[in-house]
Amino acid sequence: MTAAAPPVERRPATATTPALEIHRSPRRRRSASAAARDQVVVVRLPLGLPRAEEERLIAGLVGKVTGAARAGSRNSDATLERRAAVLADRYLDGIRATSVSWSSRMRRRYGSCTPAEGTIRISRELATAPSYVLDHVLLHELAHLVVPGHGPAFHELLDRHPQTPRATGWLEGYAAGRLAAGTTAPAEDDLVDDGAIG
Ligand SMILES: [Zn+2]
Repeated sequence: MTAAAPPVERRPATATTPALEIHRSPRRRRSASAAARDQVVVVRLPLGLPRAEEERLIAGLVGKVTGAARAGSRNSDATLERRAAVLADRYLDGIRATSVSWSSRMRRRYGSCTPAEGTIRISRELATAPSYVLDHVLLHELAHLVVPGHGPAFHELLDRHPQTPRATGWLEGYAAGRLAAGTTAPAEDDLVDDGAIG
């Protein structure tokens, strides 16, 4: 019926999947493939597959591509460290942690700072949070390199960021949701004295 070239379907990024560009080609009889290009995963599929089969193929291909590209993705430690540097330059007079990294094992804290070592870890759980929330937690941990406790001097630093009240509200709502679901809300105290992550 239609002789037009198969349309390119674009799907925006979600919290858990990157942006997709799906090409369906009548010339591609059997194989499906995917490749990352900038922040978009380009998926090529044979034309005319059942919808469920398409979705199964897409999920598998995207999992492969994002797994392989994780080192260079927005969720890499390098990206997190760059973000921390931008925030520190803007709000904390350019202070630097010795390292900033994601932690997949951190469940009871959003982030932690070990001032003695100058290291910061951020819970991988926040990888899907809005960016202003991630910024807030990064700034919180960076501020501990300047002020150890959670006193007035500490909050003065956080208040330099205009999104602090909004991010605090988001985290409160998130914690309330976790409590309602029967899971423990992250602890208030995020300072680590000995380098051990609880
Ligand atoms: Zn703290």
